[in-house]
Amino acid sequence: MDKTAVSASIISELRAIVGDANVLTSAEDRICYAYDGQRVECVPDAVVRPADAEQISRILILANSESFPVVPRGAGTGLSGGSVASSGGVVLDLTRMNRIIELDPANLHMIVEPGVITTAIADKAEAIGLLYPPDPGSMSVSTIGGNVAENAGGLRAGKYGVTRNYLMQIQAVAPTGEAFQSGARTRKCVAGYDLVSLMCGSEGTLGVITEISLRLVHMPKYRKSMMATFPDAAVAGQAIADIIAAGLVPSTLEIIDNVTLRVIEDYAHLGLPIDAGALVLVEFDGLVEAVVVEEAGLAIRSLTDSGAATVQQADDAAERDRIWQARRVALAALSRARPTSILEDVTVPLPKLAEMIAKVQQIGAKNSVMIGTFGHAGDGNLHPTILADERDEDEMKRVEVAVEELIAAALEFDGTISGEHGIGFSKAPFLTQEVGDGSIEVMKRIKRALDPNGILNPGKFV
Ligand SMILES: Cc1cc2nc3c(=O)[nH]c(=O)nc-3n(C[C@H](O)[C@H](O)[C@H](O)COP(=O)(O)OP(=O)(O)OC[C@H]3O[C@@H](n4cnc5c(N)ncnc54)[C@H](O)[C@@H]3O)c2cc1C
Repeated sequence: MDKTAVSASIISELRAIVGDANVLTSAEDRICYAYDGQRVECVPDAVVRPADAEQISRILILANSESFPVVPRGAGTGLSGGSVASSGGVVLDLTRMNRIIELDPANLHMIVEPGVITTAIADKAEAIGLLYPPDPGSMSVSTIGGNVAENAGGLRAGKYGVTRNYLMQIQAVAPTGEAFQSGARTRKCVAGYDLVSLMCGSEGTLGVITEISLRLVHMPKYRKSMMATFPDAAVAGQAIADIIAAGLVPSTLEIIDNVTLRVIEDYAHLGLPIDAGALVLVEFDGLVEAVVVEEAGLAIRSLTDSGAATVQQADDAAERDRIWQARRVALAALSRARPTSILEDVTVPLPKLAEMIAKVQQIGAKNSVMIGTFGHAGDGNLHPTILADERDEDEMKRVEVAVEELIAAALEFDGTISGEHGIGFSKAPFLTQEVGDGSIEVMKRIKRALDPNGILNPGKFV
């Protein structure tokens, strides 16, 4: 769909649907919706803030008849441009739909609207001894609708899985305005096509998610955290693969390389060992203390055998917090180190992790660009973050080459260009390289079948 200005008469009709106060048209308001977590500015023609599925349906019917793009948006923390109006049109801000509708401890489910902040879900569950496991680093800001639309992962994904693994049922509105639901509030459901999985990870291109039934688990009672230092990041990567190969299942298994470690220390002053080539952070959790202690002991042995210089266990909650604080601030610390940061999301099979880490370092050196790497390495997921200055044209050319080489390396190692941040428009140029023309054609057919006029989040990966 071409870039389409939203006319004054359309604005009036939108106001009639959601009320005057919920249609934002001033330049100051619209610029607030022009960005997500990546760096391209796309100012929408208007922002509309619906209260329920019925209003969303009416907005989408109007968009089809008047031919303007509609871009669903949660908190705008996405890292691939999914929630910005790259083809103009209206941003559909879903944060007013923020009710927790039901919490059922007997069936271990919670029903929520899409605009609920992820942490609010986790807190509500924790208050009655339950756990909502997906914990993206952005969870204190991101919405559950955005998490579902991106199939967000998190620090606990290695043991507990990603958002998709906690979806029982969803309600949504199709791009043409019809409401539908899929799944059931049961542990199993094969009634019809699995539209829950189709919507999960569809990045707001196939429908607007309006209600989500989430599966919960019991909160683990015991935890053991540790931090290991390694002289070299690739050796640390192999140590991570060794832990998983030994049959251990840490709840969290993260890597922080030396570049990232130094900027974190500069930012947060946590007393981190800045001369280490890399840090590996590990946590085990469970319902039985002896099991958790035993697993932690086996992990210490494995890390040592794999070349760790030091392994330090957290003796108390304060020490545990210090360890995880380092990981939580990694992206913020990298982002302030230089004016421009380009975050990648490459993910490789675990046996290739060490080679991929070495390759990242080679690509940085070869192109004379600074790359800090951190990530959910226990899932093979790395976030090499290129630190640059976009005012320096020569440097940005080298950055472009480095990005292409990072992606080519991940694919060469049978990996993926995105483990959790999605395609949006920033990764769209690389998608065919990974999935091939056949897949792209099938995705286009699905998109056309559900969205014949191409009004929902156009210009994103298909
Ligand atoms: C500091 C930081 C740390 C992060 N850490 C992680 C991490 O550990 N793991 C991870 O996976 N991601 C991470 N992210 C990326 C991001 O937070 C996630 O992708 C998150 O799921 C986006 O949620 P959001 O509410 O901000 O969605 P938005 O950015 O607003 O939207 C993301 C996509 O979802 C669509 N969308 C939003 N709501 C709906 C809806 N109701 N119906 C249909 N489509 C919808 C949008 O159109 C867009 O395509 C991180 C980001 C930051 C800035």
